[in-house]
Amino acid sequence: MPVLSPIDGSCLTVMARGTAQDSARAIAGTRRAFDDGRWSGLAPSQRKAILLTWADMIDAHALELAVLGVRDNGTEIGMALKAEPGSAAATIRYYAEALDKIYGEIAPTAPGALGLVHKAPVGVVGAIVPWNFPLMIGAWKLGPALAAGCTVVLKPAETASLSLLWLAELGLQAGLPPGVLNVVCGEGAVVGAAIAESRDVDVLVFTGSGATGRRLLQASAQSNLKRVYLELGGKSPNIVFADAPDLDEAVAVSAAGIFRNSGQVCIAGSRLLVERSIHDAFVEKLKARAEAMVVGDPLDPATQAGAINSEQQLARNLAFIDEARAAGRDIVCGGTRILAETGGYYMAPTIVTGVAQSDRIVQDEVFGPVVTVQAFDTEEEAIALANGTEFGLAAGLWTSNLSRAHRMIGRLRAGVVHVNTYGGADMTVPLGGVGQSGNGHDKSLHAFDKFLDLKTAWIKL
Ligand code: ADP
Repeated sequence: MPVLSPIDGSCLTVMARGTAQDSARAIAGTRRAFDDGRWSGLAPSQRKAILLTWADMIDAHALELAVLGVRDNGTEIGMALKAEPGSAAATIRYYAEALDKIYGEIAPTAPGALGLVHKAPVGVVGAIVPWNFPLMIGAWKLGPALAAGCTVVLKPAETASLSLLWLAELGLQAGLPPGVLNVVCGEGAVVGAAIAESRDVDVLVFTGSGATGRRLLQASAQSNLKRVYLELGGKSPNIVFADAPDLDEAVAVSAAGIFRNSGQVCIAGSRLLVERSIHDAFVEKLKARAEAMVVGDPLDPATQAGAINSEQQLARNLAFIDEARAAGRDIVCGGTRILAETGGYYMAPTIVTGVAQSDRIVQDEVFGPVVTVQAFDTEEEAIALANGTEFGLAAGLWTSNLSRAHRMIGRLRAGVVHVNTYGGADMTVPLGGVGQSGNGHDKSLHAFDKFLDLKTAWIKL
């Protein structure tokens, strides 16, 4: 299949379009690699050494991996360098270092019996990942799965496969036994569906759309009841109270929180809720920021927002704007395709006001550089608006009032609440959603829970 670059629409290369048979062969190979113990049977220190070598090799190739990924998916290079190879290496290193620090348990049984609780790798993992941060999100799945002793069959997104293929190649060079990590490229409905429907896959981990997430749950139900962990994006509220410690900082960080990577970020703060007394001034400042953003060639280090991943995604973004405009909403800035003469897919940072809570642009994930702004008067109203979608991935909160911050953290329906910042975190904290943002957690030691099964041995003494 042709691989188109969103930078200029040119054909970068061609890539194998995996068939159902390719997927079946890869899954069977991954199954064998688990069952014969070539990975799970190694001493933890051996697995750790291989994973650490892999992380070092990713770091050594960071620039090439980042550039390859950017040419494929359009993320601005400044962000890609930090978020892609750098974070993939850090993730794999984190789980490598943790893997020999996990202990089982001896249960507090009565005398006469011994209850041992082992933590055993679950088996074959199917990982299906999206195009926005292929290396970072890929490593969030691969790191804990491989560290736990599982084997993995990985399906990258059609429009962001190249850097993950190279990542896997580096894994092989680092000493991952062949078959422990197999990558199958191709279409979601073919390769992804084959993984989801397989009876040889024990766990499915996924980041992507709600529609696909639903299909994966159905496929599990209709096959072997494999466990399914979904990260399905969000429509995250970013709430600014008039007592925010520094309003200019709130504007700058909120702009970055929706416009960087052209809004193609699962936790993007796509709904700004601003206390009415500062609403108009806030929107003015946000508009100035949006209009000053450098959008363009993602390989130029000065670029602050790169390309939209594909022509279809750009068209989808613009359709949201057309609908809002037709409903009489106010497009404060942006709302258009730009730089069309390059042949690439670019969109101006866009602010929409005067929206109703029921509008599709408020309820559905756009996954583009589009933010809506709504005014509120009270804390109660802010919570009602914030929680008023089916999603629950992230939220932001700007206030100097410590009591209010804790009250709101408790009441916001979100897997992560940022206070007086937006975004940013590290490997030590979990990321996961509630509601239709999914289930299960990436990152932190908690991610091991998806890949390590509890197994009880009950021994009569
Ligand atoms: P996005 O909106 O991020 O493209 P998708 O859910 O369509 O979300 O894609 C995320 C990943 O899911 C990609 O790797 C894609 O190929 C895969 N995918 C898409 N459709 C299916 C499907 N029917 N079954 C399994 N995987 C799929």
